[in-house]
Amino acid sequence: MPELPEVETVRRTLEYALSGEKIDDVILHYAKIVHEDPQYFIETLKGQTLHGIERAGKYLLFILDRHVLIVHLRMEGKFYIKSQEPLEKHEHVTIRFQSGRELRYHDVRKFGTMDLRTLENYLSSEPVSNLGPEPKDLDPHVFHQICQKKSIEIKPLLLDQTIISGLGNIYVDETLFRSHVHPTRIAHTITKDEAISLIASATYVLNKATSLGGTTIRSYTSSLGVSGKFQNELMVHMRKGSPCPVCGQAIIKMKVKGRGTYVCEHCQH
Ligand SMILES: [Zn+2]
Repeated sequence: MPELPEVETVRRTLEYALSGEKIDDVILHYAKIVHEDPQYFIETLKGQTLHGIERAGKYLLFILDRHVLIVHLRMEGKFYIKSQEPLEKHEHVTIRFQSGRELRYHDVRKFGTMDLRTLENYLSSEPVSNLGPEPKDLDPHVFHQICQKKSIEIKPLLLDQTIISGLGNIYVDETLFRSHVHPTRIAHTITKDEAISLIASATYVLNKATSLGGTTIRSYTSSLGVSGKFQNELMVHMRKGSPCPVCGQAIIKMKVKGRGTYVCEHCQH
């Protein structure tokens, strides 16, 4: 599943490749990806120019003349840039530009979503308005206050995009390891120092992963010719049975709220 660093890598790549392109036509091969009325979606996008691509959490925001196309890749969504090659299986949306190039949305699982908002309201309406701040923008003291009111485990709290956005399964495991916090700790037992450490670790992990183009593991490979290198930096995630890089004890895999979770039981309390 693409997480924030992978989505940011997709954003940069697409923005570099497509900024300034004017939309000539839109073809929905599988209309359910789009949350709007299909005809409204197509007619609204036609003729608008792509000025840039922003990101909010794991949402890609295509900034057009009057509207914003909001895309979430979910489990397996990816984009390809083509120039009128035959349609491939699992390509559900084609955005054709006046240059003749096409942006194809490909999604084997069909979980991805597309929404249209106006430039005036996209920040104040769903889905973007539901997102919490990214770790780099979240005051650790505010985060500590949030933790104190919650009796859920810290890992699902960190995965809750309405509280803190951008952390997925991989980067939560890495964040918790770096802060020596066990994923099943109840949130209100997190100390102020631990809250400060968690925000710092999350910010570091996301920045580092983004600078390396994200993480390329079996579950997600980029379609745009960019391979992430953060998999080489993972300390616990996907390392079941390997020695902890700090203490040498074997890393274990457990389930936390149904999510595969990697832990050093010696280093994480
Ligand atoms: Zn350890």
